[in-house]
Formats: sequence, C-alpha cells, structure tokens
Amino acid sequence: MPIPEGLPVVDHHCHLSPSGEGVEAARRFRAAGGTHLFLATQNYTREPVRDLAGYAEQYATTERLARRVTVETGVTVFVVIAPYPVDLIGQADALGLPAAIDLQRAALELAGRWVEEDRAVALGEVGRPHFPVAGELAEAAEDLFRYALEVARDAGCPAVVHSEDLDASGYARLAELAAQVSFPPGKLVKHYARAVLPTAQRVGVVPSFVARREVLRACLAEEGPWFLETDFLDDPARPGAVLDLATVPRRAAAIAEAHPEDVERLWIPFDEAVRSVYGLELAAGGRT
Ligand SMILES: [Zn+2]
Repeated sequence: MPIPEGLPVVDHHCHLSPSGEGVEAARRFRAAGGTHLFLATQNYTREPVRDLAGYAEQYATTERLARRVTVETGVTVFVVIAPYPVDLIGQADALGLPAAIDLQRAALELAGRWVEEDRAVALGEVGRPHFPVAGELAEAAEDLFRYALEVARDAGCPAVVHSEDLDASGYARLAELAAQVSFPPGKLVKHYARAVLPTAQRVGVVPSFVARREVLRACLAEEGPWFLETDFLDDPARPGAVLDLATVPRRAAAIAEAHPEDVERLWIPFDEAVRSVYGLELAAGGRT
C-alpha cells in the first residue's frame, strides 16, 4: 500500500548546519517522500554566542537554510528559534550569570518578535539543561524557562521544550509550570519524547516522539496530538548521534508497506497535530 494521497510527511524537529550536509540532507528527506520540516536553530559556532547580535545572526542563518531547502528541494520548512537553554552555562562562565541571563532574555524576546513577524512558527528549543546543574544556575535556567513560556504565550505560538526525559510526574511538573504563566498546554511540545505514556499522564502536553521503530510502534495507537521527529543534528563530527533525516518518511513508507491497517494513524502526527498545535494547514485539499 502506498502512502495515502495528500498525506504530508513531516519531521517535526531537526537541525541543519551550513557546515554540515545542509540542503543535501533535505534532498534525501525529499527523495524518501518527506514534504515538510520543522527546522530548529542551533549553535553554528563552536562556543555559544556571547551577545544578541550573535543570536540575530544565528536565527538568520537558520532562516537562510530554510529558504535554500525550500527553493532547492521543494520541501516546505518552518523555522523554530530560541537561545538553546544549555548555552546559559557557557555564557555564565564567559560573561557572569547576570549578563548571561540578560542575554538569554533578550534572545527570547527577539525570537518572539520573529514569530510576530511570521519569520518563525514557534519558540524552541526552550527549557532547561537535560543534565543536573548546580544551585543558582539551575534556578536561573528555571526562571528563563518560565520567561520563554511568557514570550511564547504573548506571541501566541507553541513552545518546543528541551528537557530531561519525562515520566508522568515530569509531564505534570511541566504542565504546572505552564499553568503558572497561563501558557496553554496544547501548545507545549515535549521534544525528543521517548517514553510513550498514556494520554491522561501527559496532562495535555504534546509529545514529539523520536521516530525510532519501537517508539513508533507504541505511539501509533495513542490519541493525538503527537508528532514524530528525528532531531537530526547535521553534525559531521557526530554521525549516528541521532536519527538520519530520511527516517520519518522511511518509517511512514514501512508502515504503509507492512501495516496498511495502521497507515491512517499517520494523519495524527502529519496533519492533525500540526493543525491543532500550530494552526497550520499542510494537507493539500485536506484529508480525503
Ligand atoms: Zn533539537
């Protein structure tokens, strides 16, 4: 069975780099049947940027890559930007914690303005380091996470969360943090989700599942919204650190081939979730 006609094939979280494969990776995604990418910004320099101009340049690099991918491959790309939460650590070392906090806040506000100008569709990755950090740094990271949700709330966009792996209590704490700033849980996306928890335990937070075979088999049965992603890093120094960019379309094709009874479930991550979380309409002519 082929992929249903009109079904978009979406990788909800990837990175591309001007010094990596870049457009060539997107070409592989396209050749495998992919149609839409959510492209998250990343550090394109060895050290985290030290000033707001550095973040402006970083976001602009992501935007340029997105345009090139669309022009050269026909894949539609949505830009997702924010200062990477882990940057705070290196910036605190280099600048001192107060200046690092100011920089992160300014970079979040810049990202919010990009969303308002329709240059980006979401703030991401926002959140906290996925490993334990000490006292005042941890506190600052948590304050910045809360501020990121405020900026996303005011810009009316989703927030794509970088964090440690979440169990039921982790999801509950995340929803609680969002509630503190009246951020709607339906726009709160846990990126790189690996544990497939029952819907009720996710308390309205939207998982973006890593498209590993076993995760996909488990999440296909789940109610939406949820997404699929590779978190492709496009880092030649770390090949195989994450899934290849062609993975989502390949998995979709494999499901259509081996489990045709499940293929309709793919409308959840590729169409319904994109509509409910982002308000974006991807399926040409809608679902048939
Ligand atoms: Zn990522």
